[in-house]
Amino acid sequence: HVRTRFAPSPTGYLHIGGARTALFNWLFARKMGGTFILRIEDTDTARNTEEATRAIFTGMEWLGLDWDEGPMKGGDCGPYFQSQRNDIYDAYFKKLQDAGRVYEDDGAWRFRFDRSKPVTFHDMICGDITIDYRDASNTPDMAIRRADGSYIFHFVNVVDDIEMKMTHVIRGEDHIMNTPKHIQLFEAFGVTPPVFAHMPLILNQDGSKMSKRDVGAALGTYPEEGFLPEGVMNFLALLGWSPKDDTEIFSPQELVERFSLEAVNHSAAKFDITKCRWVNQQHIIALPPEEFAAKARPFCLQAGLPDSGILNEAIATVQTKVQTLAEVPDKIRFFFHLSMDPEALAKVQPEAVELLSKLADRLEREPVWDGHELIGVLKAFAKENGVKMGAVMFPARVALTGLSGGPDLSAVFSLLGKEESLKRIRAFSL
Ligand code: GLU
Repeated sequence: HVRTRFAPSPTGYLHIGGARTALFNWLFARKMGGTFILRIEDTDTARNTEEATRAIFTGMEWLGLDWDEGPMKGGDCGPYFQSQRNDIYDAYFKKLQDAGRVYEDDGAWRFRFDRSKPVTFHDMICGDITIDYRDASNTPDMAIRRADGSYIFHFVNVVDDIEMKMTHVIRGEDHIMNTPKHIQLFEAFGVTPPVFAHMPLILNQDGSKMSKRDVGAALGTYPEEGFLPEGVMNFLALLGWSPKDDTEIFSPQELVERFSLEAVNHSAAKFDITKCRWVNQQHIIALPPEEFAAKARPFCLQAGLPDSGILNEAIATVQTKVQTLAEVPDKIRFFFHLSMDPEALAKVQPEAVELLSKLADRLEREPVWDGHELIGVLKAFAKENGVKMGAVMFPARVALTGLSGGPDLSAVFSLLGKEESLKRIRAFSL
């Protein structure tokens, strides 16, 4: 039975790399019908904050990474906060002491490595790794307990992986050189180590290491910027993993079905926010229109658009035109308040003003106000006047919306209605 875990240290915020680690552990557990555990590695009291722990919970909940055991959920191997597990660590430390595997070094305690042979392990992503422990000058014994009695990361990490019966440890490549040390500890406790899989680093487009300040580094910013959780999950999955074909858009369920650790790439993943936005857009387009409206609505109200009857219909007109929900309000504001974009105005030819006034007369006579029909009228009107369709459509769009791009004009006509549409076309001037 597969058991995986996400074991974050709550310092600061949930980084996009941490979210990907959580995701890959979750995907693998779900795919294998296994158990996914959340363990909070909060032994560094000076650096750990409650706020950071909350950011982990909210981030995972937002992404839809539900855990089977862990904080709030409980489970047979709790508590799931390392800060509450000191008795367990003391007992394991005593085992090492009894076996003569630790010694005191200025008040702190070191673990005596087994120097009889090299440590070799097979990483599911990185391949075979060997560290030669026969040479003590390269591999000094490691400290596992501080003088104040607190335990060091390597020790508690391994004790918990034993106690929580982990079968697979899937984590960032920054830990790969810790793994031989961890294997030494597993062996000292007489426990077969889990299978290891170290995921590639996430780098910026220019190859530099991603830092706190980089756009998109903190998972917490994605909801407020109008990303969908399933879009971000899809994007994160592609940071290191790809399917055998060139499919790029997956629902969470499809990811679970298709994910495999063997298909995770060894080379560093490049973080591309443009790609993230594109992936998100595909998920926005796939939403049922009512759901899109319901999700975009709070962004519109927050941006000061009126809570009017046509708000949902207005939102629906831009479903295929936005990459994030936060882009919606600016794209539909014109329905409620017309304001001219100078750049759009500058693209309108002077002769269009007269043409539009003629067009208004023509539209005035239309007995039925239906967007699709009206587009036909515009076509006929262009032909009658010996101009191209664009010479009518573009100025009409600018007159109606103040913008050079946006929803289909048919939707704009329909939603604005006859009176308001004609008013805007007649009022148009350069
Ligand atoms: N607390 C460690 C980290 O956040 C966990 C490493 C691991 O997954 O073993 O990097």
